[in-house]
Amino acid sequence: MTRHLVSGSEAVNDGLRGFCAVNADLVALHEDPRFVLRAEPATDKVALVSGGGSGHEPLHAGFVGVGMLDAAVPGEVFSSPSADQVRAAMLAADAGRGVLQIVKNYTGDVINFALAADECRDRGVEVASVLVDDDVPSAERGSTPGRRGTVATVLVEKICGAAAEEGRPLAELAELGQRVVDRSRSVGAAVAAGSNFTAEPAFELGADEIEFGVGIHGERGTDRIRTEPLEALVRRMLDTLADDLPLESPVLLAVNGLGATTPLELDAAAGYALAELDRRGIEVSRAIVDDLVTSLDMRGLSLTVLLLDDELQRWWDAPVQTAHWRGTRLAGVPAAQPKPATITADETTAAAAEEEGSEAATDWIDRFVERAGERADELGELDRQSGDGDFGPNLRTALGRYRAGGDAFVALSRAFAGVGGTSGPLLALWLRTLARGIGGDPGAYAEALRTAADRVRELGGAEVGDKTMVDAMVPAAEAAQRVADADGSLDEAIRAAAEAADRAAEQTSELVARRGRGSYVGEAGRGVVDPGARLIAIFLGCGVRP
Ligand code: ADP
Ligand code: MG
Repeated sequence: MTRHLVSGSEAVNDGLRGFCAVNADLVALHEDPRFVLRAEPATDKVALVSGGGSGHEPLHAGFVGVGMLDAAVPGEVFSSPSADQVRAAMLAADAGRGVLQIVKNYTGDVINFALAADECRDRGVEVASVLVDDDVPSAERGSTPGRRGTVATVLVEKICGAAAEEGRPLAELAELGQRVVDRSRSVGAAVAAGSNFTAEPAFELGADEIEFGVGIHGERGTDRIRTEPLEALVRRMLDTLADDLPLESPVLLAVNGLGATTPLELDAAAGYALAELDRRGIEVSRAIVDDLVTSLDMRGLSLTVLLLDDELQRWWDAPVQTAHWRGTRLAGVPAAQPKPATITADETTAAAAEEEGSEAATDWIDRFVERAGERADELGELDRQSGDGDFGPNLRTALGRYRAGGDAFVALSRAFAGVGGTSGPLLALWLRTLARGIGGDPGAYAEALRTAADRVRELGGAEVGDKTMVDAMVPAAEAAQRVADADGSLDEAIRAAAEAADRAAEQTSELVARRGRGSYVGEAGRGVVDPGARLIAIFLGCGVRP
């Protein structure tokens, strides 16, 4: 089972205490029964109350404040709050103009909110409810509860919250909320089930699978599909939405993270969605990209569209002050596809192409590209164990960028110069320096190896013993020099350098890294060969003619 720092019930109580302490200007916690109220309860407006199971943060407490909710009622993780909690929150929030409940469509929530509504009515409080049921895939199950409520809840909270702040009456707010629900649809997909505090994840996915149509309680989706690029997944998700609710301009697009999705991935999905909607002739006039309704630490996202009209858009744009309303684009969002910059051949590449490459050098680099490709995963794994894991992907990128032609060493150097990380630029420098000593005599080779290692030491600041590629570079240069001094052949010098690099690379496993990301893991990297040094040995080994 996935480990957590605290248990589920502690997480809810202590999390809410911390949240309310940090945001004391906005919210206050009532502990028994548990609910979160605006720090300064509003007067003379309809009170908006929402709630549901915990584990969906920032929903709901994150949206308590001016222009959204008056109170939020958190249950246990993935479990509805009690009717007592809901009633207490409603009575505390009521300012004499009635209470609008915003309820996600789950049986427990529906029942407890309905019971609380009855009890409040008995006490003379006017109550209306908006039931949110935007999740398209859950409708396909034809089950009695109907569609689940997800991200449209936040849209209702924002739009009705703004209207309530302007003093609109309860009946109008209920109508407005219903309009948002009618015009919203959502769909989710995940690449990993979230963990639960108390249970095993509800599903396991293979590396090549995506769970499509997931909800927000870690439950299985409607379809298990083969992994596809994010762009295609986003298109599929938009198809699902459009099949259920024909899209009409302008729309609001919400890209929601399910808890363990990086902001970069969400932005990427948003970019694809904007481009795809643009292709379909749909204007996206408002967008929000954020974790809004999560499912603990589920790795995935959901997309929501709301068909806007002038009034909905106006309420959307109204001022709001809550703990978690951030980063929203309130202005129009251009729906143009971002154009990736095209990579043009630079001077060095052009110069390299003009030079005649030696056949031996070309064969050497060809062998290297093949062998390094075969071993990229293994090297990436070494970096994962002793550093941060980007070495393999970076190496693959470099190999993929290699274009034969001209001086092969220079061409490979250009390929490495095009990738990030630490190893890329250092290898580029090393190769470019080395290019000058290939095809000469053993002395020139040894000299080139020595100069190349010096350049890397100068630029990277690593010395022998720091557990880096330098550990293989320096002994290789020394071994080649010994062959040159003994009047050996170029082939012998190449072989000696390769063998020395190989031994030295192997010995890096006994060292502790003092440079690069590997230095952050310190002792934990002991026993692991340095991937950079290993790659140098592989490279020099490819110079040995078979
Ligand atoms: P990062 O350390 O930034 O994650 P990479 O994963 O691209 O960089 O490359 C890691 C390799 O780079 C290491 O195995 C090591 O051989 C080499 N390296 C890291 N820092 C240095 C340095 N300062 N000088 C020489 N080589 C280095
Ligand atoms: Mg790395």
